[in-house]
Amino acid sequence: MSVLLSEEERALRDTVRSFLDKKIAPLVSDHEQARTFPWDLLAELYQFGYVRGGVPESLGGDELPMMMQAILMEEAGRCWGSLRTTLNVQGMVARTLAAAGTQAQRDTFLDPVMAGQRFGWFGLTEPDAGSDAGSLRTRARREGDGYVVNGSKIYITNALGCDFGILFVRVIEDEVDRGVTALLVDPAESSFQVRDIPHMPLRSTTSCELTFDNTYVPAENVLGEIGGGLSLGMKAVNAGRLNMAMGAVGLAQACLEESIRFCKQREQFGKTIAAFQLVQQMVVEIASLTETSRLLGYHAARTLDAGEPGRYECSMAKLYCGESAGRAATLALQLHGGAGLMEESPVERYFRDAREATIPEGTSQIQILHLGKALLGHSALR
Ligand SMILES: Cc1cc2nc3c(=O)[nH]c(=O)nc-3n(C[C@H](O)[C@H](O)[C@H](O)COP(=O)(O)OP(=O)(O)OC[C@H]3O[C@@H](n4cnc5c(N)ncnc54)[C@H](O)[C@@H]3O)c2cc1C
Repeated sequence: MSVLLSEEERALRDTVRSFLDKKIAPLVSDHEQARTFPWDLLAELYQFGYVRGGVPESLGGDELPMMMQAILMEEAGRCWGSLRTTLNVQGMVARTLAAAGTQAQRDTFLDPVMAGQRFGWFGLTEPDAGSDAGSLRTRARREGDGYVVNGSKIYITNALGCDFGILFVRVIEDEVDRGVTALLVDPAESSFQVRDIPHMPLRSTTSCELTFDNTYVPAENVLGEIGGGLSLGMKAVNAGRLNMAMGAVGLAQACLEESIRFCKQREQFGKTIAAFQLVQQMVVEIASLTETSRLLGYHAARTLDAGEPGRYECSMAKLYCGESAGRAATLALQLHGGAGLMEESPVERYFRDAREATIPEGTSQIQILHLGKALLGHSALR
């Protein structure tokens, strides 16, 4: 695969992989067991371009090409799903602040995020507005010098763990719905409830329900234009799709490496199971899924770097890489026999984490509908 990367891109991949293997991988098992996350180590990772890579240099970021960011997410996914998703959300928060934040908002939120001193959540989904994100109902009513928010959000990654958030609401002014708008919500000035919902994958993240009951948010915390929140959020989600796709490529790569290691050392019927044809078939299928996924992900990244919108390519990568990671993890688990179902084996975690790859940032079905519309000119969404 190296022929697809420039010398600089290969160097980035190798350096990050070596850092993650040495510094992060040994911590994963204990954190997953305890359902904790090493927040204090994130700043050290940002030196490679995580989170800062999506922010222009003029705002203090690293402004990396999407191809470099794709490589970073692939390596994070190979190491640890909870790390990949945490970095992805921090990247979405940073990009959104960079795109729409005022100088004061950048000072208070973006600069500390890029320094790994503050962490943000990204709150779009609601109990009754998932795939149909535009139908969200959380309301922010203008009152005096601020807004009073009522409603709830669900499945918000790391809302317990982060210290502020970007909240998507419907702004109501003079009884008129002004549209979906992003608000910066800081618990130091706005009070709301957070509840972690126990979940199967990504055990070192929290997946939270947020409840806003007459929560006050100052007017200076409006992020971007009133009514401009949905397009702001969707821009972040488009890049998030590619990041999720590349995380899935990394997860499939981890399944491949662990499967090769295992089947070379496991012996049955007097020989290594690597010599059995049906075992080889499983390994080759994992390898094929991994390599084809990688090609689609890199293609989407190069398309964005060429200045194209890349929505079709990102959707296809998200669909294919997410579904392929699930199949790769299923095969890896099967190849491990009983050992694959034990928490001592990393493939038990890969299997759980792979189930997440087809749901957030638009489910596989929603990606199919985007692709169908692009190919056929008819929307089947509604
Ligand atoms: C681990 C995890 C982390 C998440 N983190 C965040 C986060 O940080 N911030 C955030 O805002 N959200 C987050 N989400 C929410 C995520 O974006 C939603 O779960 C996702 O958009 C799907 O919405 P839903 O779960 O309500 O499913 P639904 O929209 O209810 O879909 C249910 C099923 O119906 C299908 N479906 C829906 N509409 C159609 C249609 N028109 N045609 C065909 N099939 C359809 C879907 O594909 C799915 O199979 C997270 C979710 C998970 C699981």
